[in-house]
Amino acid sequence: MVTAGGLSLDQLNMKTMESKNAKGLYIVGEALDLDGDTGGYNIQMAFTTGMIAAEDLNSKL
Ligand SMILES: Cc1cc2nc3c(=O)[nH]c(=O)nc-3n(C[C@H](O)[C@H](O)[C@H](O)COP(=O)(O)OP(=O)(O)OC[C@H]3O[C@@H](n4cnc5c(N)ncnc54)[C@H](O)[C@@H]3O)c2cc1C
Repeated sequence: MVTAGGLSLDQLNMKTMESKNAKGLYIVGEALDLDGDTGGYNIQMAFTTGMIAAEDLNSKL
Protein backbone atom coordinates (compact mmCIF):
# COMPACT_ATOMS: atom_id res chain seq x y z
CA MET A 1 0.00 0.00 0.00
CA VAL A 2 2.88 2.36 0.66
CA THR A 3 6.35 2.38 -0.88
CA ALA A 4 9.19 2.27 1.66
CA GLY A 5 12.43 3.99 0.72
CA GLY A 6 12.90 7.17 -1.25
CA LEU A 7 14.94 10.27 -0.61
CA SER A 8 16.51 10.43 2.86
CA LEU A 9 14.94 13.19 4.96
CA ASP A 10 18.34 14.62 5.90
CA GLN A 11 18.73 15.62 2.24
CA LEU A 12 15.80 18.04 2.56
CA ASN A 13 14.90 21.27 4.27
CA MET A 14 11.83 19.89 6.08
CA LYS A 15 10.34 23.38 6.47
CA THR A 16 10.05 23.73 2.68
CA MET A 17 10.58 20.20 1.25
CA GLU A 18 13.28 21.65 -1.02
CA SER A 19 16.37 19.55 -1.73
CA LYS A 20 19.52 20.77 0.03
CA ASN A 21 21.60 19.70 -2.95
CA ALA A 22 19.44 20.84 -5.85
CA LYS A 23 17.78 24.22 -5.29
CA GLY A 24 14.33 24.41 -6.82
CA LEU A 25 13.79 20.65 -6.54
CA TYR A 26 11.00 19.70 -4.13
CA ILE A 27 10.41 16.13 -2.94
CA VAL A 28 7.09 15.10 -1.38
CA GLY A 29 4.83 12.14 -0.66
CA GLU A 30 6.00 8.65 -1.43
CA ALA A 31 9.19 9.94 -3.05
CA LEU A 32 10.42 10.45 0.55
CA ASP A 33 11.94 7.84 2.84
CA LEU A 34 8.95 8.20 5.15
CA ASP A 35 6.10 5.79 5.68
CA GLY A 36 3.66 4.97 8.40
CA ASP A 37 1.08 2.39 9.35
CA THR A 38 -2.18 2.35 7.46
CA GLY A 39 -5.01 4.44 8.87
CA GLY A 40 -4.41 7.71 7.09
CA TYR A 41 -0.81 8.52 8.02
CA ASN A 42 0.52 8.07 4.51
CA ILE A 43 -2.17 10.10 2.79
CA GLN A 44 -1.75 12.80 5.43
CA MET A 45 2.02 12.79 4.85
CA ALA A 46 1.50 13.14 1.09
CA PHE A 47 -0.99 16.02 1.51
CA THR A 48 1.06 17.80 4.17
CA THR A 49 4.42 17.63 2.39
CA GLY A 50 2.74 18.71 -0.86
CA MET A 51 1.16 21.69 0.88
CA ILE A 52 4.45 22.72 2.52
CA ALA A 53 6.21 22.64 -0.87
CA ALA A 54 3.38 24.57 -2.55
CA GLU A 55 3.40 27.25 0.15
CA ASP A 56 7.16 27.72 -0.26
CA LEU A 57 6.84 27.96 -4.04
CA ASN A 58 3.97 30.47 -3.69
CA SER A 59 6.07 32.58 -1.33
CA LYS A 60 8.68 32.95 -4.09
CA LEU A 61 6.26 34.23 -6.75
C1 LIG B 1 -4.55 0.02 -2.25
C2 LIG B 1 -3.98 1.15 -1.43
C3 LIG B 1 -4.57 1.47 -0.21
C4 LIG B 1 -4.04 2.50 0.57
N1 LIG B 1 -4.64 2.79 1.76
C5 LIG B 1 -4.16 3.79 2.52
C6 LIG B 1 -4.79 4.13 3.75
O1 LIG B 1 -5.78 3.51 4.19
N2 LIG B 1 -4.26 5.13 4.47
C7 LIG B 1 -3.15 5.85 4.06
O2 LIG B 1 -2.73 6.76 4.74
N3 LIG B 1 -2.55 5.55 2.89
C8 LIG B 1 -3.02 4.55 2.12
N4 LIG B 1 -2.40 4.24 0.94
C9 LIG B 1 -1.18 5.00 0.59
C10 LIG B 1 -1.51 6.39 0.02
O3 LIG B 1 -2.57 6.29 -0.89
C11 LIG B 1 -0.22 6.89 -0.67
O4 LIG B 1 0.86 6.90 0.26
C12 LIG B 1 -0.40 8.31 -1.20
O5 LIG B 1 -1.50 8.39 -2.08
C13 LIG B 1 0.88 8.72 -1.93
O6 LIG B 1 0.68 9.98 -2.53
P1 LIG B 1 1.70 10.53 -3.57
O7 LIG B 1 1.11 11.83 -4.03
O8 LIG B 1 3.08 10.55 -3.00
O9 LIG B 1 1.76 9.47 -4.75
P2 LIG B 1 0.58 9.01 -5.76
O10 LIG B 1 -0.77 9.13 -5.11
O11 LIG B 1 1.02 7.67 -6.27
O12 LIG B 1 0.63 10.10 -6.89
C14 LIG B 1 1.64 10.11 -7.89
C15 LIG B 1 1.02 10.70 -9.13
O13 LIG B 1 2.03 10.93 -10.11
C16 LIG B 1 1.53 10.52 -11.34
N5 LIG B 1 2.68 10.24 -12.20
C17 LIG B 1 3.49 9.16 -12.19
N6 LIG B 1 4.45 9.26 -13.13
C18 LIG B 1 4.24 10.45 -13.74
C19 LIG B 1 4.91 11.14 -14.78
N7 LIG B 1 5.98 10.63 -15.40
N8 LIG B 1 4.43 12.34 -15.16
C20 LIG B 1 3.35 12.89 -14.53
N9 LIG B 1 2.69 12.28 -13.53
C21 LIG B 1 3.13 11.08 -13.15
C22 LIG B 1 0.64 9.33 -11.06
O14 LIG B 1 -0.30 9.13 -12.10
C23 LIG B 1 -0.01 9.77 -9.76
O15 LIG B 1 -1.21 10.50 -9.98
C24 LIG B 1 -2.91 3.23 0.12
C25 LIG B 1 -2.34 2.91 -1.10
C26 LIG B 1 -2.85 1.89 -1.88
C27 LIG B 1 -2.22 1.58 -3.20
